[in-house]
Amino acid sequence: MTDADPHSCNAEFANEPHVDFAVEANRMAMQAAISRVGAQLGCHCPLVIDGESVDTEGRLASVVPYEFTRQVGTTASADASHADRAVQAARSARADWARLPARRRSDKLRRLADLMRRDFFELSAWEVFESAKPWREATADVCEAIDFCEYYAEGAERLAACRGADVPGEENRFVYLPRGIAAVIAPWNFPLAILTGMTAAALATGNAVVMKPAEQSPIIAAKLMQLALEAGIPPGVLHYLPGKGEEVGAALVEHSYVHLIAFTGSREVGLAIHARAAQVSGKRCKFVKRVIAEMGGKNAVIVDRDADLDEAVAGVVYSAFGFQGQKCSACSRVIVLKDVYDAFLHRLIEATRSLPIGPAEQPATIVSAVIDQEARDRILRYIEIGRQEGTEALAVDVGELARSGYYVGPHIFADVAPDARLAQEEIFGPVLAVLSAEDLDEAFRIANGVDYALTGGIFSRSPAHLDRARREMEVGNLYLNRGITGALVGRQPFGGFKLSGIGSKAGGSDYLLQYVIPKTITENTMRRGFAPPE
Ligand code: NAD
Repeated sequence: MTDADPHSCNAEFANEPHVDFAVEANRMAMQAAISRVGAQLGCHCPLVIDGESVDTEGRLASVVPYEFTRQVGTTASADASHADRAVQAARSARADWARLPARRRSDKLRRLADLMRRDFFELSAWEVFESAKPWREATADVCEAIDFCEYYAEGAERLAACRGADVPGEENRFVYLPRGIAAVIAPWNFPLAILTGMTAAALATGNAVVMKPAEQSPIIAAKLMQLALEAGIPPGVLHYLPGKGEEVGAALVEHSYVHLIAFTGSREVGLAIHARAAQVSGKRCKFVKRVIAEMGGKNAVIVDRDADLDEAVAGVVYSAFGFQGQKCSACSRVIVLKDVYDAFLHRLIEATRSLPIGPAEQPATIVSAVIDQEARDRILRYIEIGRQEGTEALAVDVGELARSGYYVGPHIFADVAPDARLAQEEIFGPVLAVLSAEDLDEAFRIANGVDYALTGGIFSRSPAHLDRARREMEVGNLYLNRGITGALVGRQPFGGFKLSGIGSKAGGSDYLLQYVIPKTITENTMRRGFAPPE
């Protein structure tokens, strides 16, 4: 392993420490930030193209999911003409950015990370309001955004290091060039971290970026845009285009000068982007568009007959219901060996029943509202399906909260069949299916019997069974004897396969390779004289 090796483990990377809310000063800081940001709700954010604010007649409204009469704010809403303006500005700016030494670009990303540290609690508070992220989740998302900036800054310097294989009379150099212009299309559920991650990777490797945040989280994205400009990212190199996916998102995907699409979101949209990018490649543009698409999951945890049930219950409850189950990595199936099925189910129900539900701004909240009305309706439809397909073992009633926010209480369905819709389709909400397995063979068969391969885990005290899980579980991220969410940059590079994704791991050592074009340069250096300089 050398400094120049892009595949080195990067084991020394230090993650931004998560906030310890047992420390009073941290609780006070978060509370104060929530008050300050609360006073700024109702703000308006225009588009940012080439460093200029651009307003539009149409607007996106961002509401507080747990109190839908309150608006976080509004943003302008970009269309295809704005996409074109941003891409044309990026075309003019990208060559200078690409020519900068990697170190200079990386320094700007490190500065961006420092600015996020400066505004840490404010950014977290915006996430509380805009995404209904409970405190712990909101602050963890900001930590991850900081990590992405620093990890990719370091990785890009590593990629830029000189490498070659010279022999007498011949010099060989192997270099990485930026792809050009990247459209970054992000989801709302990690509203700062994922948007920052894809953007930082593209910028660090010398690309220009047009950011298209999700409709549900455009304000936190506007904060990122402001900080990026303050960090010294040149105006032509980064643009902020909130708007509708099918309008501005689609326009960016099809644009003749967008070389790369970095997408994270649902399988349906990811596959459509992949297909559309292939259709226009070679026709509308004279290159093949590169698509990175990180998509959904239907993640399972297996509970073995010798598992420590206390640990298994805690791990499953947090993985299934933390942030309302709205993580691509969330546990939505738990497959329990029949010998411990009843004991596990009983404890799982009791532990889930005790989860505090309420507004995300309250420090004790673990489960708040889901993101919007559409999500609530979809989850409620799945709950209806669950009632037909399994036994409703727990249905937490959110009572009066449902009048003011998009709340859905945690639901557990027992005795669900492996081919039931509840066990096959991504629900993206606080709904957990419990399945029984005769033995470990059947448990692995059930776990692997879905279209997705994102995260998965097993609780077991048998080394042989853990080894089987290592070999047999078809997932991108496998967790043994712990929860299956909360991957850390560098430590648990994240991403799936099958219909969960077509990229290499975010926060991993080979991630940046997707953003560059490799080039080999060979020179005949046999002495034959050179022409004098002109
Ligand atoms: P989504 O697919 O609805 O939207 C994602 C983004 O795509 C948004 O910015 C949206 O505006 C845009 N979009 C929508 N239609 C488009 C189109 N036709 N052309 C271009 N862009 C378009 O997803 P979401 O609801 O924001 O996020 C939830 C999904 O994301 C879940 O399926 C979840 O599993 C997945 N997710 C995956 C990962 C991962 O790393 N694998 C991480 C987070 C979320």
